[in-house]
Amino acid sequence: MKTKPKFETIAIKSTENKYTDSAPVSTPIYLSSTYIRNNDGSYTNDFVYSRANNPNRAIIEESIAILENGKHAFAFSSGMAAVSAVFQSLKSGDHILLPDDIYYAIKKLMEEVFKRWNLSVDLVDMSNLENVKTAIKPNTALIWVESPSNPQLKLSDIAAIAEIAHQNNALCAVDNTWLTPVFQNPLALGADIVVHSTTKYFGGHSDVIGGCVVVNDEKIAEKIKNIQILSGAVPAPFDCWLIARGIQTLKLRVKKQSKNALKLAQYLENHPRVEKTLYPGLQSHPQHLLAKKQQKKGFGAMLSVLIKGSESETTAIAAKLAYFTLATSLGGVESLVEHRKSVEGENSPTPYNLLRISVGIEHIDDLIADWKNALSMNN
Ligand SMILES: *Cc1c(COP(=O)(O)O)cnc(C)c1O
Repeated sequence: MKTKPKFETIAIKSTENKYTDSAPVSTPIYLSSTYIRNNDGSYTNDFVYSRANNPNRAIIEESIAILENGKHAFAFSSGMAAVSAVFQSLKSGDHILLPDDIYYAIKKLMEEVFKRWNLSVDLVDMSNLENVKTAIKPNTALIWVESPSNPQLKLSDIAAIAEIAHQNNALCAVDNTWLTPVFQNPLALGADIVVHSTTKYFGGHSDVIGGCVVVNDEKIAEKIKNIQILSGAVPAPFDCWLIARGIQTLKLRVKKQSKNALKLAQYLENHPRVEKTLYPGLQSHPQHLLAKKQQKKGFGAMLSVLIKGSESETTAIAAKLAYFTLATSLGGVESLVEHRKSVEGENSPTPYNLLRISVGIEHIDDLIADWKNALSMNN
């Protein structure tokens, strides 16, 4: 071009990316909705348009697939978008089994959205395999497992349930948010689909919302990928970048968190003001042996505690804690505590005296001292 371009044109061209061949150690955030096409119409990489794919998303999808022992992972803008994608992959008229104390927003999603699309559902206590077998119908297409469940920490035998599903031409999906692939690999246990809210441990710092679906089967992969790209609930490049940063320290964090959780659970279990401590790592947990078999490398960092006392006494204890922030969510480096019943509302099956605890990476001595103080009668 001979003539000097005008101000507006310079403003655009002079700020174009000149450093595509630079070699930064940390992955840049690719804030580009679209990618340059070569003169012959081809693309240099597989990136065309950011809803379809982008470098930051490709990085976490490849990473999560490998970590979960899966062939394909698909990232979504939230855990619920990932859950929805799995439901959207079913056909009208299909029947689904859900755990009776499933993450409450999934139950709500089913009731308030997918029932209108003619999916039917039964809620089952999956800690007992007989219940699962009896609830199967000829049109059951999916058994959804959450193990441990939220917030009562009930376990379900993933290998056995996957087998029941397959004997009945159904698929088995596992919400693996609470344990992460560090502690549990549902695909290796026979499940067909793994779902994560990456908002939790993958992100790990309470600063990003995300989700993903991991599968092995090519046909299921194609369906989920179509839903991801065409429905478009995709994560932004910055969100993917945060998840990628989280993945780098995932194992370090959750191992420490799980170690802290076991020690805290052991302390709480022996406290006179505690009615019951729900944690799969405790010998007193009714499914401790299943936990040892299924969660080979650890028990996770979530636990719930039932307080001896009224609802107001329970919430007062939570309010007295200094190092456990009162907030919903879980999986971040900071410890959180939550009175689940008041979040889940009137119809919630959660006991009024239950506090759910997400254990962080703080020093265990401080965490235990905090509970000791909060549970003491006289201050
Ligand atoms: C948080 C959570 C979800 C939902 O994920 P979002 O990222 O909040 O949409 C689903 N399942 C479990 C077990 C969760 O903890």
